[in-house]
Amino acid sequence: MALRNILKQGDETLTKHCRPVTDFNDRLHTLLDDMAETMADADGVGLAAPQVGVLRRAVVVLETNVEEGEEPYIIELVNPEIVETEGEQEGPEGCLSVPGVYGWVKRPEYARVRAQDRDGEFFEVEGYGLTARAFCHEIAHLEGQLFLDVSERILSEEELEEYYAEQEPEEAE
Ligand code: ZN
Repeated sequence: MALRNILKQGDETLTKHCRPVTDFNDRLHTLLDDMAETMADADGVGLAAPQVGVLRRAVVVLETNVEEGEEPYIIELVNPEIVETEGEQEGPEGCLSVPGVYGWVKRPEYARVRAQDRDGEFFEVEGYGLTARAFCHEIAHLEGQLFLDVSERILSEEELEEYYAEQEPEEAE
């Protein structure tokens, strides 16, 4: 496995439509392994192939909604499609390609995704909260879309601090 360079906003690659993955080979496996390592190194919860310069429909998302004592785990999504959404959440959203910038973004509270795994097998996976947000954010990358395109406004550092200060009591439950 190896770390890959994360492209930053302004790089044209991030605005392109990605093509489906057709070969479920070693090259894809290496890409997914490298993306997982790169995401972990950058402390992210999601990463899409175009962010590391590969215009193919593949993303990794960190599932953080796990039982107490269990480790978050990586969901690999190849040729993903959102097949169902429910509810709505709104809050700050950021991106490893736009470091230090957070925007106010509305996303569904729940999203169900149909995708293929690294061997081409179809499966479905559900995400709630942050995971649903990450599914939507990463799959949008495959259409060349950044969160900035759907953000209502960019948050100032003060607003961001305020938001997280208000969230704390809830998280302490
Ligand atoms: Zn992103």
